[in-house]
Amino acid sequence: MVGAGGAGMYAAIAAAGKDASVLLLDKSLVGRGGATIMAQMTVAAAIGHEEPDHWTDHLQDTLAAGRELCDERLARMLCENGPARIFEMDGWGAHWARGADDRIRQVKAPGHGRARCCYVDFLNTGPGVAGTLRRQVSRLGSVRRVSNVAVTEIVVHDGRAVGAVGMDVVSGDVVTMNAKAVVLAAGGLTKIYRRNSASTNMGGEAYALALWAGAELIDMEFVQFFPIAHLAPRLVGMDPIMWDPFRYKLGGRLLNGDFEEFMHRYGGQDSGTYTTVRDQASYAILKEVEAGRGSPHGGVYLDFRHVPDETLRGAFGPVIDRLAQNGIDLTLTPVEVAPTAHYHMGGIRVNHRMETRVAGLYAAGEAVGGANGANRLSGNAITEALVFGECAGREAATAVAGSARGWNPAAAEAAVERLRAGLTADAGGGVPANVLQRRLQDIMWEDAGPFRTGEQLQRALDGIHELRQSPVAVRPADGFNLDLQDRLELRAMLTTAEAVVRAAIGRTESRGAHQRLDFQESDARFVTNQVVETRGGELTAGWPVGQSLP
Ligand SMILES: Cc1cc2nc3c(=O)[nH]c(=O)nc-3n(C[C@H](O)[C@H](O)[C@H](O)COP(=O)(O)OP(=O)(O)OC[C@H]3O[C@@H](n4cnc5c(N)ncnc54)[C@H](O)[C@@H]3O)c2cc1C
Repeated sequence: MVGAGGAGMYAAIAAAGKDASVLLLDKSLVGRGGATIMAQMTVAAAIGHEEPDHWTDHLQDTLAAGRELCDERLARMLCENGPARIFEMDGWGAHWARGADDRIRQVKAPGHGRARCCYVDFLNTGPGVAGTLRRQVSRLGSVRRVSNVAVTEIVVHDGRAVGAVGMDVVSGDVVTMNAKAVVLAAGGLTKIYRRNSASTNMGGEAYALALWAGAELIDMEFVQFFPIAHLAPRLVGMDPIMWDPFRYKLGGRLLNGDFEEFMHRYGGQDSGTYTTVRDQASYAILKEVEAGRGSPHGGVYLDFRHVPDETLRGAFGPVIDRLAQNGIDLTLTPVEVAPTAHYHMGGIRVNHRMETRVAGLYAAGEAVGGANGANRLSGNAITEALVFGECAGREAATAVAGSARGWNPAAAEAAVERLRAGLTADAGGGVPANVLQRRLQDIMWEDAGPFRTGEQLQRALDGIHELRQSPVAVRPADGFNLDLQDRLELRAMLTTAEAVVRAAIGRTESRGAHQRLDFQESDARFVTNQVVETRGGELTAGWPVGQSLP
C-alpha cells in the first residue's frame, strides 16, 4: 500500500483480512500524513439514523452533483457500501457522535437531500477516522508499517506491477520493495496550486506514479476549489475549510474590502444568509479582488457579526473556544476568506475492482478518478477513501493469493538507476526545487485555477515545460536532504500539473469545477470523460475510442 491515509490503511486492513502479508508505507508517518487526518467535518453515508434514508437517494444526489460525468459504477459503490464502512468503523471504536437515543448523529450538508453526514465532533472527524484505522492496523500482525519512505516509481515487469522503488527520506537510502500487487493510495494534488488546503504531502504523486507505470488518468480537469477557505487572521490547528458548516447553519455575510455585499453583482444573492453555490461564489470573490476591492490579504470578508453570541455558541461551542484561542471573536470582527484548491475529482482510472489497466496495480481514495464526476458533494471524499480502500485491499489480496512474486531485478535496477540519477546533488548553479515548486504553484493558480481560458492554459503548459528544463540546485548533505526530496516531488508535481492543464485545454466547455471563461456554457457533446495517458514518452489528453469529440 503506497500511502497510509484513510484509503491506504483501510486497504491494508482488508488485505490482511484475506490473509495477505501487507506492507503499508508512507512518505510521512503512517496514518498521520495527508488529508484524512486534516478533515474536520463529515463523512456521508445513508445509514438513516437521523431521518429515513437509502443509498439510492445518496447516489441520486451524488450523480446530480457530478453534472452527468460520474462513473456510475464507482458512485454506486461509494453510496451503497458507505454505511457498511461507518458501522464497521463503529465496531472498531470510531466514536461517531451519537444522540441521547444512541443513534449516530447526522447533519445535512449542501447538495444532500437528507441529513446523512456523520461526524465525530466538530473538530475531530478526520483525526477520529485516522486514529481508528491506525489502531485497527496496529492490531494486525500481518501488516508491516513503514514510515518515511517516499515511493518514486512503481516497478513494472512484463506489463505487471511487481513492486516499487523509493527513498528513505531520513537516511537518503534507496529502497526497493517487491510485491505481488501494489495499491496506490497516495492522495490528491492540491499542493500544485499556490493557495490550497493541502498538507505538504499532497503533490499529486499518485497520479504521476500511475502514469509512469502505464496506467490512465481520467477527469483531470476537475479540481475542486472551495470558495471560502480561511485566509486571515492566522489560524492554528483548525481546518481551513471549516467555514462551510457555519455558512449553511448560520449564514454569514460575504463583504468586499469596502465592507459592501457584492454577490448580487454576479447573479448570486446573499442578504445575510450566503446561499450562493460554490463556483459562483468563487467567481464573484476573485472578480472583486481583481477589481481592487479585496480584503487586505487578497480575499473578502466573511462576517458573522449579525449572529448573536448565544446562537454561535449553541451551534459551534467548541469551535468558538478554539477560535478564541486564535484571538478570533466572530461577534466583533469578520474573518478573511478566499477560494482555495481543495480536492481532486479526477484521478487514476480504475474498474469496479479498483484495478488500473496495469496488471497488479490498484488505486484507492482521492487518487481514484470518476466517482464524483465534475463536482463532489461534501462528505463524499472520506467515504470514497474508506470504501475504495476496502475494495482495493480485498481485491488485490484475493487476486494474488497463492501466486508467485514477479519481482525482476533488472526491471528494479533500471528504476533504481533513474532514482539515483535524481538523487545526485549538484555542485552549483540552478534553482532550488522548492523555489521551482512555488513557481509551478503560481503558474497553476494564475493560469489553470478556478477560471481558465485556452490562452491561459497554453501559457501554463509553456510554463510547465520551461520549469522542466530548469536546472535544479541541490545542496549536498549526508542522509536527510530536503533539497533531494523536493526535487523528486517536483518531478511528480510537474507531470501531474501537465495532466491537469492538458485535460483542461481539451474540455472546451464549462461544467462543474471546470469553468472556461472562453466557453461559459455546458455543451452536451462533452458528456463524456477525458483520459490522460503517456504515449511515446509524451502526455496526451483525449477521448476514449468511440467517444471522439470535435
Ligand atoms: C483540510 C481538509 C479538510 C477536508 N474535510 C473533509 C471532510 O470533512 N469530509 C470529506 O469527506 N472530505 C474532506 N476532505 C477530503 C478528504 O479528507 C480526502 O479526500 C481523503 O481523506 C483522502 O484520503 P486518502 O487516503 O485518499 O489520502 P490521504 O489521506 O491524503 O493520504 C495519502 C497518503 O499518501 C502519502 N503519500 C503521498 N505521496 C507518497 C509517496 N510518493 N510515497 C509514499 N507515500 C505517499 C501521504 O503522506 C499521505 O499520508 C478534506 C480535505 C482537506 C485537505
